[in-house]
Amino acid sequence: MTTSKILIVEDEKPIREMIAFHLVRAGFETVEAADCRAARQLLADERPDLALIDWMLPDMSGLELTRMLKRDKSNEDLGIIMLTARADEYDKVAGLEGGADDYVTKPFAPRELIARIQAVLRRARSADEEVIRAGVLELDTAGHRVSADGKEIRLGPTEYRLLRFLMTHADRVYSRTQLLDRVWGANVYVEERTVDVHVRRLRKALTEAKADDYIQTVRGAGYRFSTRDA
Ligand code: CA
Repeated sequence: MTTSKILIVEDEKPIREMIAFHLVRAGFETVEAADCRAARQLLADERPDLALIDWMLPDMSGLELTRMLKRDKSNEDLGIIMLTARADEYDKVAGLEGGADDYVTKPFAPRELIARIQAVLRRARSADEEVIRAGVLELDTAGHRVSADGKEIRLGPTEYRLLRFLMTHADRVYSRTQLLDRVWGANVYVEERTVDVHVRRLRKALTEAKADDYIQTVRGAGYRFSTRDA
């Protein structure tokens, strides 16, 4: 299983570093932001699995940031835990209604925070379908395997991510720019042509299974995964 990446959004450096220390020790990968602006940049660049967002931040409240992130479709898989210094019931409800998955009240024991993180990640994982089927293809998200009629199809990591994204968003057209953002992460400096190269490789890998025409080119718009005829 891959390591989960956690974004810590907290302006108080000692607290941020303390959290990062405990998360790394528990086997997580961490990225840190001191304000909402940096957090949004890291979300696009690093594609974390979960964000810990402090309630009180210098440029925007953690609640506003949470609401903003949840309005953005590209963060639909992101888990959010709010860190709040307030024991106020109202704040907890507002946080959850704003789109947070859970909240932890400061001061907290690192062990408790880690348990909450694991619970949110587990829920997100079981919400994901473990095996996605479309036409002859079967994509096992837990095992990172793709097969057709029980026969494994070997894919490179990028082709796998591309296929997984397309299969979980079937019958919708994505432009090259959207695919770069969603599969590669925003602000990675690759050309749009790169998408075409990986689409070509993916189709080639799917040819033997006669699934190559599931990856459809939509002229002037981008690509679409569909088991129906283009
Ligand atoms: Ca703070």
